Amino acid sequence: MERYKELLDKLYKEVKKVEVSERFEIPKIEGMIEGSKTIVTNFSQICSTLRRKPEHVAKFLSRELAAQATIEAERLVLNRRLGSKMINDKIEAYANEFVICPECKKPDTELLKEGKFLFLHCLACGAKHSVRAKIV
Ligand SMILES: [Zn+2]
Repeated sequence: MERYKELLDKLYKEVKKVEVSERFEIPKIEGMIEGSKTIVTNFSQICSTLRRKPEHVAKFLSRELAAQATIEAERLVLNRRLGSKMINDKIEAYANEFVICPECKKPDTELLKEGKFLFLHCLACGAKHSVRAKIV
């Protein structure tokens, strides 16, 4: 019994350690080119990692990549041929602006709307920073 508890403690410590050192990683896009379109097939997975609404992310990408973006179920369809690096870079830019806390660099944040202002509120350290309310 005692050994079992020890084992659990050890396991628990190891799990904790992993959690602390784990970096926030945005999945790289998976996609394909179809005619003149670029399709991101794991778009909903990326948005759930970012914990942001797909519509918001799509709007940002549309603007940054100068392409029309349409959400089709799990996928995002962009009406231009785009390299995956370009899209990955823009998703990272989105995370830096709308997800990652500028104070503690953690991704445990939420967007708060107050009047016509939008704030990035950090659940880890409590910091609040204003961000662009509209992506247009
Ligand atoms: Zn923070």
